[in-house]
Amino acid sequence: MSYVIEAPKVVTLPVEGEIAAFPVRRIYCVGRNYADHAREMGHDPDREPPFFFQKPTDAIVPNGATLPFPVATKDLHHEIELVVALGKGGRNIPVERALDLVYGYGVGLDMTRRDLQGEAKKMGRPWEMGKGFDQSAPCTALKTVAKVGHPASGAIWLKVNGTVKQKGDLNQHIWNTQETIAYLSNLVELFPGDIIMMGTPAGVGPCFPGDHLEGHVDGVGDLTLTYLK
Ligand code: MN
Repeated sequence: MSYVIEAPKVVTLPVEGEIAAFPVRRIYCVGRNYADHAREMGHDPDREPPFFFQKPTDAIVPNGATLPFPVATKDLHHEIELVVALGKGGRNIPVERALDLVYGYGVGLDMTRRDLQGEAKKMGRPWEMGKGFDQSAPCTALKTVAKVGHPASGAIWLKVNGTVKQKGDLNQHIWNTQETIAYLSNLVELFPGDIIMMGTPAGVGPCFPGDHLEGHVDGVGDLTLTYLK
């Protein structure tokens, strides 16, 4: 195939212990999947059906990056999340079979221009410019299911400049991994390469130029990110 302009590169995540990389197809994000975070955002944490938004695939940033501070925001927030990477796809997947789709897991940041998201919410407008901006999805290398199993519990935390800001446990997900995959597969057909960011615990808050972020999920990995002054 020849193209009339330069074709975009395939976005990939490294896989621990593999030379080959994981090609990322789409990034789905679960909203308000921790009750304490739903509360801090002013919502009732009752078990409403999960809802989803997307980030553009090329928002992925490799682990350890140093980035220019994002444009067009005065309120950039960190959201540390478990990342689920699918090796198989399908539609209408039953909960009992949903984990069969998973290739591996990683640690990601759903970076959020909270001021733009808040404005969008108020106006009943889409969230994309608050959520799906350039370099908004830093992510670690993946660990395969063979190595890490299907982590359903374990600490998840985020530090800014060495101070713990977010702390939770994977077992606090309102919708767990298999339920989330099953639910999403009834909304869209899932494909190998799709990744799902599983939502963030309480403690989201602002980042500033010069900040150093460290995120962790037990058994899954550690993510660092630095913003230039
Ligand atoms: Mn999020």
